[in-house]
Amino acid sequence: MSNKNVVIIGAGLVGALLGVSLQQRGFNVSIYERYVDIRSIPSLGRSINLVLTSRGLRSIAKISRQLAEDMLKLSVKVVGRGLHVDGQAMQFQRYGKDDSEFNNSISRFDLNVFLINAAEKAGAKIHFNSKVTGVDFDKKQVLIQTGSLESKPQMIGGGVGEKTKQTSSSGSRQKIKYDYLFGVDGGGSAVRYAMRDAGFTEFYEEFINSGYKEMIFPQYPAKGSNAVPQDPKLLHIWPRHEHFLMTLADLAGTFTGTFYLPMTGPESFETIKTEAQARFRSLFGSIVLSCLLHCDLLGACFFHKILPRHV
Ligand SMILES: Cc1cc2nc3c(=O)[nH]c(=O)nc-3n(C[C@H](O)[C@H](O)[C@H](O)COP(=O)(O)OP(=O)(O)OC[C@H]3O[C@@H](n4cnc5c(N)ncnc54)[C@H](O)[C@@H]3O)c2cc1C
Repeated sequence: MSNKNVVIIGAGLVGALLGVSLQQRGFNVSIYERYVDIRSIPSLGRSINLVLTSRGLRSIAKISRQLAEDMLKLSVKVVGRGLHVDGQAMQFQRYGKDDSEFNNSISRFDLNVFLINAAEKAGAKIHFNSKVTGVDFDKKQVLIQTGSLESKPQMIGGGVGEKTKQTSSSGSRQKIKYDYLFGVDGGGSAVRYAMRDAGFTEFYEEFINSGYKEMIFPQYPAKGSNAVPQDPKLLHIWPRHEHFLMTLADLAGTFTGTFYLPMTGPESFETIKTEAQARFRSLFGSIVLSCLLHCDLLGACFFHKILPRHV
């Protein structure tokens, strides 16, 4: 049994799972998460579906077989891709040799809730509303701002689509001691910035001119849409040059779609409001177009190159 104190920054997918693993190995784990507990807010339909691969599940089973089995119960089996190339019949691309080899579709929100519950059950202490603002690597202290009461935007990476509900900015500052620190605070990691400021690392960060929106498709095909996912066992993709739509089945029988589109340019979130509208209607139908026009933007994509990754 180790008496070492591990501090994990971020109760996202990685932070919560890491909490389970390290707590099982006897460390005293404390997780600090900037937003309110996502279990206290509805998912609001702002969480894309992820592909949980069989390879990923095998790794998770090494931490806990039960955890991997319970995760599977939250997901829908996906045996391959359904490619909807413009003007052609759907092409089926199988993942494995037959239906016994498959990936899994899972709601990112449900997965995050599940992993937070698992981390707490394993004994990790999770502190919500606790935002890291800096790290003193010499004193082995993390600087935490508490009580800002921000709601998690349920997106990955931070950026232009980020919507938070800030009901109060009052709070206090704390210094938390650690023996080991893990910064798993996502795309805009404050820990990585602190490492760079301390001279431990360098990184290059570039926004890609693309964003994405989530859309929910009903269980049964709707009229007015050319992009209709039908087979829940497939990851459906509508590739269209610079942009594409993909859908994955939900447990409830609906499909969650994610539309990736450039922010600016000839066919983009910008031009879809005006000149590109007719083209998008003919490519995807009026229902998808309406969602592209009216749904909230979930996130912007960006690219990182970091060296070295740890100190
Ligand atoms: C559009 C898209 C599709 C994807 N599809 C897939 C897929 O199909 N399959 C797959 O395996 N992966 C997929 N990914 C990747 C996957 O989402 C990420 O690998 C995963 O979310 C990374 O987990 P994380 O815990 O490192 O970061 P996050 O999930 O982003 O969690 C970081 C956490 O840190 C918190 N945080 C941030 N700043 C601070 C701070 N200063 N102080 C305290 N806490 C903070 C955040 O609130 C958040 O809870 C996709 C990613 C994107 C963008």
